[in-house]
Amino acid sequence: MTQQPVIYWFRNDLRLHDNPSLQKALSTGRPIVPVFIFDDKWWTNFPDLDFPRIAAHRLTFLYETVLNLSEQIQNAGNHLLIFKGDPVVILKELYVRCDAQAIYAQEEYAAEELSEQSMLSEQLHLQLTPGSMLFTPDQVPFTVDKSPFYYTAFKNKVEPLGVYVSTSPTITHMPRYQGDQTAIPEVYSIPTGPSGLFKGGETAGLERMETYINSGAPWRYSETRNQLEGAHFSSHLAPWLANGSLSVRKIWQHLSAPSQPDEEAQISIKTLKEQLIWRDYFRYLIMRYGEKLFWLKGLRTSEPTMYNDYDAFNMWREGSTGQPLVDALMRELKATGFMSNRGRMLVSFYLSKELKVNWQWGAAWFEYLLVDYDVYSNYGNWAYQSGRGTDSRVNRRFNLKKQAEKFDPTGSFVKKYGSQK
Ligand SMILES: Cc1cc2nc3c(=O)[nH]c(=O)nc-3n(C[C@H](O)[C@H](O)[C@H](O)COP(=O)(O)OP(=O)(O)OC[C@H]3O[C@@H](n4cnc5c(N)ncnc54)[C@H](O)[C@@H]3O)c2cc1C
Repeated sequence: MTQQPVIYWFRNDLRLHDNPSLQKALSTGRPIVPVFIFDDKWWTNFPDLDFPRIAAHRLTFLYETVLNLSEQIQNAGNHLLIFKGDPVVILKELYVRCDAQAIYAQEEYAAEELSEQSMLSEQLHLQLTPGSMLFTPDQVPFTVDKSPFYYTAFKNKVEPLGVYVSTSPTITHMPRYQGDQTAIPEVYSIPTGPSGLFKGGETAGLERMETYINSGAPWRYSETRNQLEGAHFSSHLAPWLANGSLSVRKIWQHLSAPSQPDEEAQISIKTLKEQLIWRDYFRYLIMRYGEKLFWLKGLRTSEPTMYNDYDAFNMWREGSTGQPLVDALMRELKATGFMSNRGRMLVSFYLSKELKVNWQWGAAWFEYLLVDYDVYSNYGNWAYQSGRGTDSRVNRRFNLKKQAEKFDPTGSFVKKYGSQK
């Protein structure tokens, strides 16, 4: 008799290296039915806005990622099923069709993901495991509802745990379900085309990590990280981290190798690791505050002075505000799907505090375009920059002229992406 399988639902953990949740599914000793679902809602427009959840940059990157995952799974002796539709509906049907014993998946914490998890677990056996963080809730010295509000307090509590960060082995064999495969109709074939700025997939992500670390650039990170452009001014690992084709713990371990030549390098590595902690911090913030972080009011009690101003929003998103640096940055985002961290800080400030436009719209535009879109980091940073999140200086402002003099002193960045006015 065929052994009852478990379904493995790949979400933002599109990798076979250091994947604790997949490891847990394998430890059942049962055959695995691996699944990836392109969610229909990614193609529906945001409320009140005329664009959907995902643009070509991230979609191409995701296609490449899923194709690469499919190849890796094939090499491990199994077959990735690829669907498009409503994940809850598809998984429930698949569960019945292959008489699965359980569904295993990486745990997620944002509102939509939580709702999917609760709808599934009401009707079937869903086994969730954290996998996208450096420090899991059972490792940190506080409960999620007491997670520190401010980043520095959070960092001080978790940084000492850095020495314990470990990874699980890469999966090389995944037993295949031997039941009737025709009972599980696969529906989605992935289009192929030229890559964008980054090539998607676990293989490319691991290569990028090696290249970046071996280049020695991390040793100068503190000095270069605020640049607007250049090959290695920052790691550019965010796209792979965002869809989980690269493990954050793997990067942490590589950065921890004792090879820093001098004090400047040590400071830089520490600073880079602190950025990875920001990523965890926003996950904990959303775990603690849930939907609140997505509200216009955010985590603050005062009423926001931001409005649904379509004209100002359209000028901002198309890069035609008349502010040369903001315009160039917004054009870069549209053309490439990427923007430096300094750039993101400046344009989010400008939209929410100068133009006084609803910050949620800016976050939605980023969600649509960013190749490294990550729900926690995007909404957490947007709330922070617009004074509705956890910045202790809620009225923080930037002088754009001074920022341009400092970060684009020759004007080359503005020239590259042009400005309309
Ligand atoms: C308004 C706004 C929106 C943002 N939206 C996103 C998003 O959707 N996805 C995303 O990954 N990052 C987001 N960031 C954070 C940051 O800008 C990017 O992670 C970073 O620019 C990506 O480039 P990098 O990989 O070269 O980063 P590096 O400077 O090399 O940093 C290494 C890694 O640390 C993490 N990191 C760095 N800065 C932050 C930060 N402020 N918050 C959380 N994690 C951080 C990222 O995973 C990044 O890949 C946003 C920042 C702002 C101000």
